[in-house]
Amino acid sequence: MTTTEEAKKECAICGNISNHMEVISTKALGSSDLDARPPEPERSTIAYWVQRCPSCGYCAPDISKGDTEMSNIIESDIYKQQLSDTRFPELANSFLCWSMIQEEEAQYKIAGWTSVKAAWACDDAHNDDAARKCRERAVMLLDTARKKGQWFAGNAGTEEAVIIDLLRRSGQLDAALRMCNERLEKDPEEFIRDVLVYQKKLIEKADLVRHITAEITSGIG
Ligand SMILES: [Zn+2]
Repeated sequence: MTTTEEAKKECAICGNISNHMEVISTKALGSSDLDARPPEPERSTIAYWVQRCPSCGYCAPDISKGDTEMSNIIESDIYKQQLSDTRFPELANSFLCWSMIQEEEAQYKIAGWTSVKAAWACDDAHNDDAARKCRERAVMLLDTARKKGQWFAGNAGTEEAVIIDLLRRSGQLDAALRMCNERLEKDPEEFIRDVLVYQKKLIEKADLVRHITAEITSGIG
């Protein structure tokens, strides 16, 4: 159901040629997580969502695309530290490095979403501490994106529902509950309201683990 293909990539920053697997096609069958992570088989293609140049360390969804001005951040100490930070899985470091580049470019929406993907890579590696750090970073970036008018989901309600899940799963329960209540007071559309009511139940139980949208309609929890 998922097809991948090896592709030669010329790094847009240093010109090095390296091979990378790319997803040609995949599907998402079933229910997404409350933070919008897709179900299988798309879920397991995560390792192919970011590439890393083995020569200069440039990380991007496609390393053949990019701006040489990005070399300023790629050559910085803080970027190099992140690239090989042993507290995070290698895949999460690649996402976090692309997130840093996007933050530098003031693309807070992309930077935030890329940090969410880094959290998913940490979840897969069962590294809760690293996942929490990625979610905290994602909340900070997505909050900045909202303030700058860079909407990151289909509408404000969906966007806030994702932020609430990031807050809950990183243990920021007071902030998650406050945001949940604020949004519910705005009389959201039915689906969002159901999500928020469900989130509220999880928050009140101090439940920090992954849940899927199908649980809402099936009444689990
Ligand atoms: Zn390179």
